[in-house]
Amino acid sequence: MPTTVIGLEGSANKIGIGIIRDGVVLSNPRHTYVTPPGEGFLPRDTAKHHREWVLKILRQALDEANVTPKELDCIAYTKGPGMAAPLLSVAIVARTISQLWNVPLVGVNHCVGHIEMGRLITGCQNPTVLYVSGGNTQVIAYSDRRYRIFGETIDIAIGNCLDRFARTLKISNDPSPGYNIEQLAKKGQKFIMLPYTVKGMDVSFSGILSHIEEVARKQLEIGECTAADLCFSLQETLFAMLVEITERAMAHCGSEEVLIVGGVGCNLRLQEMMGVMAEERGAKLYATDMRFCIDNGAMIAQAGWEMFRSDPEQHVTAIEDSWCTQRFRTDEVEVTWRDN
Ligand code: MG
Repeated sequence: MPTTVIGLEGSANKIGIGIIRDGVVLSNPRHTYVTPPGEGFLPRDTAKHHREWVLKILRQALDEANVTPKELDCIAYTKGPGMAAPLLSVAIVARTISQLWNVPLVGVNHCVGHIEMGRLITGCQNPTVLYVSGGNTQVIAYSDRRYRIFGETIDIAIGNCLDRFARTLKISNDPSPGYNIEQLAKKGQKFIMLPYTVKGMDVSFSGILSHIEEVARKQLEIGECTAADLCFSLQETLFAMLVEITERAMAHCGSEEVLIVGGVGCNLRLQEMMGVMAEERGAKLYATDMRFCIDNGAMIAQAGWEMFRSDPEQHVTAIEDSWCTQRFRTDEVEVTWRDN
C-alpha cells in the first residue's frame, strides 16, 4: 500500500503545502510574503499573510496532486523552529484538517525536513550537511540515530546577515534579498577585506554585518567602492567560513558526500566554492534548486513520511499535544528511519 503524506510549512515568510507519495512529489505550491525594500518581515504581518493564503494553497496542493483527503495517510506540520505567530497560523490548520478528515498528525522539525528533502531529491545517502537559511546555520552529520550538530552560528544566521545587509542597501526583497545580492555580486570588481570569524567549529556573523554596514556608510557615498563590490566581498568571506567548517566536519566523519540545504543553499557561488573543496577531498557535492531548498511543504511531508512509516507510535501526536515551538534543535529528534 502506498503512503501519502501532506506537509504544511510556514515557519518563516513562505507558506507552502506539499504532497508526497513514497518518494514522489505530487504537488508543492508555495507563496512568499515579500516586503518592500529596506523592510524585513515581522511575525504578526507574516502570520496574517499565511492566514490569507493557507486555504488557497491547500486547495491547490490537493488539486495539483489529484488527491482527495480520504487518500491521505498522515498530515505533517512544522512544529519548529521558527517564528511563533507564523508557525501557529499553520499548525492550527493542520490540527483542524486532522480532526475534520480523521487523519493522524505528525509534528516535524523544520531542519530535519530540509535534510530529508535534500536526501530524497539528490539521492545522496549519508552526507555531511550544511544547512544555511534566513534563520539557521548548522553543519550536521548523522550518527547513532541523531542528526548531530558539528558547528553552527553563535549569533545570527547567514541568511539573516545577507537579508539585513540587503535592507541597508535598499536591495529588493523580490524574489528574495539573497538572490539579488548574488546577482549584484557577479558585477563586483574589488575585494574589500572583512573580518573572518570562525571560532573552532562555529561561525559568527553579527560583527561582520556591523563592519560592512560601516564600510557602506563611509565608502559607498564617496564612491570608493560599489554596492556590487560589497555584495561580492560579503559573499566570498561568509561562504569561505562555511566551507572551512564543513570541510573540518567532513574530515572528522570521513564523509564522501556533502549536501547543502536551506534557502541560502541555492546560491550558485556557495555551491561552486563547496564543490571545489569537495573535489579536492575526493568527495561529491549535492545541492537542490529553489523548488526544494527554499522552505516548502513537500520537505515537511517527506520527513513526516519517514517518521510515520518508521515509528508511528513515537511520532504521531494527539491533538492536545500538537503544539509548536520557536526553539527546536535538530538533534532533539530521534531518527527512527535510518540504520545505525
Ligand atoms: Mg528553512
